[in-house]
Amino acid sequence: MKELPKTYDPRDVESRIYDMWMDRGYFHARRDPDKKPFTIVIPPPNVTGQLHLGHAFDETIQDVLIRYKRMKGFSALWVPGYDHAGIATQIKVEEELRKEGLTRYDLGREKFLERVWEWKNKYGSRIVEQLKTLGSSCDWDRERFTMDEGCSKAVKEVFVKYYEKGLIYRGERMVNWCPKCLTTLSDAEVNYEDQAGHFWHLRYKFKDSDEYLELATTRPETLLGDTAVAVNPNDERYQHLVGKMLILPLVHREIPVVADDYVEMDFGTGVVKITPAHDPNDFEVGKRHDLEVINVFTDDAKIVADYPKYAGMDRFEARKAIVADLEAEGALVRVEDYSHNVGTCYRCGTTVEPKVSTQWFVKMAPLAQPAIDAVKNGQTKFVPERFDKTYYHWLENIRDWCISRQIWWGHQIPAFYCDDCGEMVVTKESSAVCPKCGKPMRQDSDTLDTWFSSALWPFSTLGWTGNSDEPSEDFKYFYPTNTLVTGYDIIFFWVIRMMFSALENTDKVPFDTVLIHGLVRDAEGRKMSKSLGNGIDPLEVIDQYGADALRFMLATGNAPGNDMRYIDDKVKAARNFANKLWNASRFIMMNLPDDFQFTGLPADLTLEDKWLVSKFNRLAKEVNQNLDAFELGVASTKIYDFIWDVFCDWYIELTKPRIQAGGASKASAQQVLVWTMQGMLKLLHPFMPFITEEIWQTLVGDGSMIMLQDYPVFDESIDYDKEEADFEKVVAAIKAVRNTRTELNVPPSVKAKICIETADKALFEGVALFFQKLASASEIEVGDSFDMPNAASAVTHAARMFIPMEQLVDKEKELARLKKEQDKAQKDIDFLSKKLSNEGFLAKAPAQLIDAEKAKLAKAQEKMDKILASMKALG
Ligand SMILES: [Zn+2]
Ligand SMILES: [Zn+2]
Repeated sequence: MKELPKTYDPRDVESRIYDMWMDRGYFHARRDPDKKPFTIVIPPPNVTGQLHLGHAFDETIQDVLIRYKRMKGFSALWVPGYDHAGIATQIKVEEELRKEGLTRYDLGREKFLERVWEWKNKYGSRIVEQLKTLGSSCDWDRERFTMDEGCSKAVKEVFVKYYEKGLIYRGERMVNWCPKCLTTLSDAEVNYEDQAGHFWHLRYKFKDSDEYLELATTRPETLLGDTAVAVNPNDERYQHLVGKMLILPLVHREIPVVADDYVEMDFGTGVVKITPAHDPNDFEVGKRHDLEVINVFTDDAKIVADYPKYAGMDRFEARKAIVADLEAEGALVRVEDYSHNVGTCYRCGTTVEPKVSTQWFVKMAPLAQPAIDAVKNGQTKFVPERFDKTYYHWLENIRDWCISRQIWWGHQIPAFYCDDCGEMVVTKESSAVCPKCGKPMRQDSDTLDTWFSSALWPFSTLGWTGNSDEPSEDFKYFYPTNTLVTGYDIIFFWVIRMMFSALENTDKVPFDTVLIHGLVRDAEGRKMSKSLGNGIDPLEVIDQYGADALRFMLATGNAPGNDMRYIDDKVKAARNFANKLWNASRFIMMNLPDDFQFTGLPADLTLEDKWLVSKFNRLAKEVNQNLDAFELGVASTKIYDFIWDVFCDWYIELTKPRIQAGGASKASAQQVLVWTMQGMLKLLHPFMPFITEEIWQTLVGDGSMIMLQDYPVFDESIDYDKEEADFEKVVAAIKAVRNTRTELNVPPSVKAKICIETADKALFEGVALFFQKLASASEIEVGDSFDMPNAASAVTHAARMFIPMEQLVDKEKELARLKKEQDKAQKDIDFLSKKLSNEGFLAKAPAQLIDAEKAKLAKAQEKMDKILASMKALG
């Protein structure tokens, strides 16, 4: 028999094992008509990304599921890939350029995109390598990228199809604009925060009288673009003024008073200024009253040239200047502190500017309803179920999706314009000629929101081709996919969009289950962030403890949908568990003969063998149930407890006398040890793939690999309920004796007789040897009842054990020791009682401290009771 090295060093093992799996092509999923497919598509990490703990968590869950299903006989496909991540990537490359003193405009679109592709080729593979160190059994032959040929083709197919169906339109809308990133943001890309601000109370004078209307604004600088003032039509204070003209301060333009339901009568003065170009509500009011839209900001939020006095000023600088001028002109009434909700860019934190512009939109209402229905009727279910509420909430309140972005990195919008006659064409072709005047057309310079392509990910990666070609064999076999594993933070961004995109384009839901997990937080429960400096690099953890330890910790520490905490000690505990397993394997192998042949479970199983086998059998049953219900943490904890307690701490100890004795009993123990070890390795493999494979290679050594073995399932023929329950009584009795001895401070080397009072006499008589080996018994006597006044006792539901006290301790010595303890306890009691009766202390000390002292006193008294009981027992 080969031997395992003394200690397990993951660094020596993991990459070698991974290469073996790769060399044999075991990650590649075949379209096997005799098997059922099981498919997961990876949530594509950003191409610029580095593996962080959140990825490691997400990928561990996916790999556990994929490995489990593969062992259950499915053709299990895990599609890997990454996302081009539009703005995020473009910003990185622009930062690089800035170091060279360049902007993307200096390079021009084509050269700039070359730089981004260079960047992508350099860093795109990094995250792939990092996924491999974690042990991810992705099908690397099917690696995809959201901008590869197939995915790009799918994007065009879908865009053109939507356009032709009227689901995509171009329109002038108020959008969220980041003046720093210079692009639109979808609603979900805007963060809202309360900021301290002001209400500037202004007065606008009537054109033909000296009267004023007073109103308040949080953004005085937008006054330059005011085109009306509005009041509520039911507001009796102002009804007679509707239609009159006001003179806009500073600008001195004439603007009308209009009546609109949008105005709240009881808020402020009941009068609001209307700036259609710079406020979403005002934009709507403007449309209703046909008001002019006057834009006062440049794209980077500076005042436009039309206002020479302020032109070129940043919006916040302009605010100061304008407030000063309003005051000088007598238009400023007063300033009031006011806290208001401000939208900021989720990438750069800049205050978002509402902006009117022409953009492309996806019409959401017709797409949202089927996506709602598909979850309501159970075609796709959320685990945990409660997350369907988040899903419905977003879909029921969804607005049209602005999909155009003013950046260059991404899928360029397949629309073409004729600059001569204004004609527009939407086409899958890469160029177009004007159908009206025959001139070459100019492609829209905008790109699509990065989520537009990731919304197609579950089918674009499997070779969906739209209506133009026959779908690929992969698509026919592996689609729809099965489980989507993702964080609750991207239900809106991603899950919803995949759902409606799949339903619209493939007529099927993209996956049957959405398994939601939370965030990985630090040990104190804080989010990990650069600014807090509390981030953990999973690659460092893997280097220190091994990928198996990290995976086991991540899989064990959580329930679906909940956040988890990263605790270093838990990774250490997982590493210790791996070592425990390693040592148990070494013990088994060292006790096998060179010519050992594994023949399976022997016919002559002993009571303790049946106890072990039966417990393992039930473990297998439960682990299957837990994994099928996505309770990974429950499954891994059960496997851990079985390996550590049942197998290592009990069964191995129970076999030692048989191994020493030799003969047939030893031979059958060897078979049981190997059978159980193989089963445990298989159960554990999805969680700890490397160490289980490494042990398998040595223990089995027939050239097979564990990753393709059948996962253990419940086997009726080895269900030994009765024997298991019987031996459980023995285990409980031995544990009880050990506890009693520990309480009495008796070292294991002190042997003593045990009298066992029980109705199961035959059972306990048959296991005398175990009491001798594991409970320090010199001899045992089993009987119906014992009368032993001077004895320590241990009680279980099936037996009472008595141990003669004089055999456990030297009476005089023990009495002396107890006397010392008694004196010490008495001192504590006296001290604490005195303190707690001191009125000065009680009056001054905080309640917490008093309670703590009271608790100490109670403990000291408890201890005293125990000491007295022990002294009494000694006689
Ligand atoms: Zn920004
Ligand atoms: Zn034309």
